[in-house]
Amino acid sequence: MSGGVVIVGAGQAGAVLAEKLRARGYAGAVTLIGAEAVPPYQRPPLTKKYLTGEMTLERLFLRPEAVYAEQDITLRLSTRVAGVDRAARRVLLEGGETLAYDQLALTTGSTPRRLPDALGGNLAGVYVARDLADADAMAPEFVAGRRVLVVGGGYIGLEAASVAAARGLKVTLIEQAPRILNRVAAPETADWFRDLHTSHGVRILEGCGLAGLEGCDGRVRAARLGNGETIEVDFVIAGIGIVPNTALAEAAGLAVENGIAVDAFGRSSDPLVWAAGDCASFPWRGRRVRLESVQNAIDQAALVAANMLGAGQEYDPVPWFWSDQYDVKLQIAGLNTGYDRVVARRGKGTSFWYFSGPRFLAVDAINDPRAYMIGKRLLEAGRSPDPAVLTDPDSDLKALLSAG
Ligand code: NAP
Repeated sequence: MSGGVVIVGAGQAGAVLAEKLRARGYAGAVTLIGAEAVPPYQRPPLTKKYLTGEMTLERLFLRPEAVYAEQDITLRLSTRVAGVDRAARRVLLEGGETLAYDQLALTTGSTPRRLPDALGGNLAGVYVARDLADADAMAPEFVAGRRVLVVGGGYIGLEAASVAAARGLKVTLIEQAPRILNRVAAPETADWFRDLHTSHGVRILEGCGLAGLEGCDGRVRAARLGNGETIEVDFVIAGIGIVPNTALAEAAGLAVENGIAVDAFGRSSDPLVWAAGDCASFPWRGRRVRLESVQNAIDQAALVAANMLGAGQEYDPVPWFWSDQYDVKLQIAGLNTGYDRVVARRGKGTSFWYFSGPRFLAVDAINDPRAYMIGKRLLEAGRSPDPAVLTDPDSDLKALLSAG
């Protein structure tokens, strides 16, 4: 009997892939396997509206659970895959069951880095912010007046700090790199967000790692910081990056290169195995990239669904991201890797435009949806705006779209 499509990983990418196969008329079996007990859900609200109780669990779900049965998608929850036998085209589940496949998709996502046990990472009251269980575990800690240490000044750390500060907690954030957002944004954007957080009472220490956590009865009570200070803390959130889940692919002998290596069509080194989302690296404009974003999970999964059915489409996205902190919306279009110049536009909102020589690479738009929209459209058209127009706060950005 035909095994149809088996999808390993029931996150954003896996759910989209299953749904798009059906939307494109695929009539074979579709099995979506997830380790968690709940159907696929959105992650961005986990540390925001879900944590603060403004959003219910059901509203987190990408689709009500019943929809999977209606679409004849077999959802196998609380199920872990132990291995893939590519020669036999079978997936082995923990517990011994095997599932046959005609084509296999790996949408295994990524795992947050944890603070090492040697630094006290195993103490109670130390959290990461990745999945539903993490959010449920840390939610009761968010009580006004409590002291939280946020380790890491990337988007996870800054977003967690903003939620905590807005709820009246006392927040210290440490970043071991010389500045916050060091990996993902320019100093100009980092300066803007440092000021924002400082104005909300967050204490930010940059160039400051964690020397160790101290506990009492197994629960964190204090943190020794890299600058020699010891501070008392009630709990700790680590937002220190994520690593792609490639173990299954590696064990199955697939090519892995900063993620499961796929080609422009989303196909791995085995033509019957595909990958999409956080776990996959793909060729993009002369290099291999891996994008950790919701947009990439959705778009790459949709492309893989199409290509599994023979569409032959290549993946060439204009990446975009967003981050909500306090009442500020940061929208990013493009990838700034390799920039040598940042042009600032300060008008109603603020935007920072990244260039490599004359070539426009990306824009960070802060409370400025227009700058974001125009930046994204310029990138889609492969065009570079005149920096002099950008810096003039009275210039009409829209004119850039028609300028020759
Ligand atoms: P991230 O962007 O890699 O930032 C983690 C930061 O923590 C890095 O600057 C890292 O510095 C620092 N760090 C690591 N170990 C540390 C330590 N012991 N003490 C102090 N600082 C330490 O990762 P993330 O913020 O955890 O986010 C994970 C992924 O999810 C990222 O790709 C992120 O962009 C994505 N995400 C996106 C959004 C959004 O788009 N709104 C929201 C949340 C998360 P080093 O570089 O020196 O190690």
